[in-house]
Amino acid sequence: MCAGRVDLAFVLRAFSNGMDGVFVGGCRLNECNYATHGNYHALNMVLLCRKIMERIGLNPERLRIEFMSGAEGILFTEVINDFGKKVKELGAIGQGEGIDRHELASNLEKVTKLIPYMKLVKRDKLASRLNREQDYKDLFTLEEVDRLFREVISYHIDPDKCQACMICLKKCPVEAIAGGKNRIHVIDQEKCIKCGTCFEACPARFGAVQKISGEPVPPPISEEERTIIRKSQKQ
Ligand code: SF4
Ligand code: SF4
Repeated sequence: MCAGRVDLAFVLRAFSNGMDGVFVGGCRLNECNYATHGNYHALNMVLLCRKIMERIGLNPERLRIEFMSGAEGILFTEVINDFGKKVKELGAIGQGEGIDRHELASNLEKVTKLIPYMKLVKRDKLASRLNREQDYKDLFTLEEVDRLFREVISYHIDPDKCQACMICLKKCPVEAIAGGKNRIHVIDQEKCIKCGTCFEACPARFGAVQKISGEPVPPPISEEERTIIRKSQKQ
């Protein structure tokens, strides 16, 4: 029902599935029936996505957003015809840009994995409601998106500090933490959506969860090394 429901993930999935262009149609700005003004969310999402597309070498013209009312059938037809023509000119996705098919698939997969992280880090801008067109042009910059990718945050559990209290494991929203009683906990980086919940949840007296920016995550320790021998067990 609402353009605001169109998630960044939907757009990237369409491109991953080989769509050559994606069009998002929303109600006119400031004419939303609800206090949520979801069309602004859609606009901000599209602006971020277009910069992401540029970052991975895709032509941002493949993604367009337009606003119109349900009574503007003629305008809708004109816009769609124009967009269809534009997409045809751009050619097949990736081919038009001269990107290798596998490289494009791999880049789209990497970006898709970072969606929850990007939405978290850019939540204020994504929820913004600016008035001037120029402000929207400047909302996201290529340098900013570039930095976002370069300085991407990862979370790691320090095996020397983890006390296997299991708090982080219980709170992780995507079951990315493996642990158990007397087992040093480890984060599965493939599953982790970088929400930071474990970092906040780990008791300060342990401080075992580390936040790493723009650097590789230390390799996980072996299964044998993960068992914690308590002092009482040693006696
Ligand atoms: S950052 Fe979030 S998703 Fe990743 S391990 Fe911690 S709680 Fe789970
Ligand atoms: S909350 Fe901290 S100490 Fe407890 S299991 Fe997780 S990383 Fe280890």
